Amino acid sequence: MKIPISLLCAAACALAILAPPSAAAQAPDATAFVNVTVVPMDAERVIPGQTVVVQGGRVAAIGPAAQINVPPGAVKIDGAGRFLIPGLAEMHGHNPPPGSSDETVARTYFLYVANGVTFVRSMLGWDGQIELREKVRRGELLGPRLYLAGPSFNGGTVKTPADAIQRVRDQKKQGWDLLKVHPGVPRAAYDAMARTADEVGIDYAGHVPADVGLAHAIATGQRTIDHLDGYAEHLGATAGPVDAAKLADIVRLTRGHGAGVVPTMVLWDTIIGAHDLSTLLAFGELKYMPAQTVAGWTSNYEKRTGASGFNAAAAKQVAANRRSILKALSDGGVEILFGTDSPQEFSVPGFSIHREMQAMRAAGLSNYVILASATRNVAEHIGEKGETGTVTPGSRADLVLLKGNPLEDIGNIARQAGVMVNGRWLSEQEINKRLAAIAAGPWN
Ligand SMILES: [Zn+2]
Repeated sequence: MKIPISLLCAAACALAILAPPSAAAQAPDATAFVNVTVVPMDAERVIPGQTVVVQGGRVAAIGPAAQINVPPGAVKIDGAGRFLIPGLAEMHGHNPPPGSSDETVARTYFLYVANGVTFVRSMLGWDGQIELREKVRRGELLGPRLYLAGPSFNGGTVKTPADAIQRVRDQKKQGWDLLKVHPGVPRAAYDAMARTADEVGIDYAGHVPADVGLAHAIATGQRTIDHLDGYAEHLGATAGPVDAAKLADIVRLTRGHGAGVVPTMVLWDTIIGAHDLSTLLAFGELKYMPAQTVAGWTSNYEKRTGASGFNAAAAKQVAANRRSILKALSDGGVEILFGTDSPQEFSVPGFSIHREMQAMRAAGLSNYVILASATRNVAEHIGEKGETGTVTPGSRADLVLLKGNPLEDIGNIARQAGVMVNGRWLSEQEINKRLAAIAAGPWN
C-alpha cells in the first residue's frame, strides 16, 4: 500500500512534537545542527538559536537549542553563525549526454550537490535515466533527486496527432515524470499531446513551438515555459522596448492558467550573444568541465556572434527586455521556478546557480523571491508542499548550511559550510577535496 505523503508528514510532525527525547536516541543515524539560524522558507523570516535533528532522511525535530535534546551518538554540526536553508532545486538541468561513463555521471551529479542542488528536473530524456533516478533514490549513487522529462516532442518525433498520442502513452508507461516540448511540434499534434497527457496524468513543459504560440500553450495547460520562450516574440520585443500594456496582459494570462516560468537568464544571454566572450571564459568553474567541452562552447559562441547579421547592441536590448519581462511576471504573481540549463554552454552544473541568482537580482527580484523560486515554489509545483522546499518538521533532509544570511545577500548562497543530501552530510572539507580532484582530472 502506498501511504500518502501528507499522512507521512502528519505522522512525522506529530512525532517531532510529542516524542520524548529517548525515542530519538534509539536511532543510530541522527545528525544535529546545533544552535543554527533556520531559514525555513515557509515565510520571509529567520529563526535564530535552533537545533535541528535529522533522522531517517527526515527533519525529526526543530526547536530552541536549549530545549531540544540531541540524541546520544548523533553527529553534531556546530551551527553558530550559520544559516540552514532547504536544499535547492534546478528546474532546467540535464543528465550528461547519452553514452557517458559512470564516472562522468557521478562527477556531474557531484557538481550539483557540491553547490547545494539536491533536486534536478532533468529536461531531456534518453535510455538509462530512469535507472539512474532509482539508484539515486535508493542511495546507491550520490546525486540530486531526479525528476525526469522523457525524450523530446519536436518537429522530427511528432508530426501528427496519432504520433503524439502514442508517444504520451509510451512515456507514461515507461515511468517518465514529465513530457518535454521542443520547437517544431505542429499545433494539431500539440493539442493531441495535451489532451492525452491530461487523460493519463502527466505534465508537459519546456519550449513553445512557433505553430502553437505562447498564449495557446499557456491556455492549453503547459506546466512551465522555459527560457521565457515565446514571451519576447509574443510581445514583439525582439528588437525595440517592451509594450507595457501587452506585457500586463500576458502576465495575467500566465498567472490565470497557473503556468510556471523557468527563466534561465544567464544561459539565454549566452545563446543570444549578450555576454562578452572574455567574461564567459573567465568563469572559474570552467575548470570542472573537460577542456574539449569548453572549447566546443567557445567555438559555438564565436560562430553565433561572428555570423553576418549579428548585432551586439540588439542582443543587449533583448537581454534587457527579458529582465523587464521576468520582473513583471514575478510582480504579477506568476510562479517563478529557478533553473539555469546545465550542463550547457558556460553553465556548469551547480555553479551556474550563483550566477543565475545574481542575474535575477539584476532583474529586480528580491532575495526572498529568488530563494523561494528554488525551494518552496518548486515543492508546491510538484505537489510536495511541506515535504520539500522548506525546513520544517517532517521535511526531507535536503539541507544547505550557509556562512551568511541569504535573505540579506543572495550571494551568501555561494558561501556554503556543507550540504545534506537525502540525509547524507557532506562537509565543506569533503566537498572541496573532491572538487580539487575533479579540477585536477584526468577525465577528458
Ligand atoms: Zn535545456
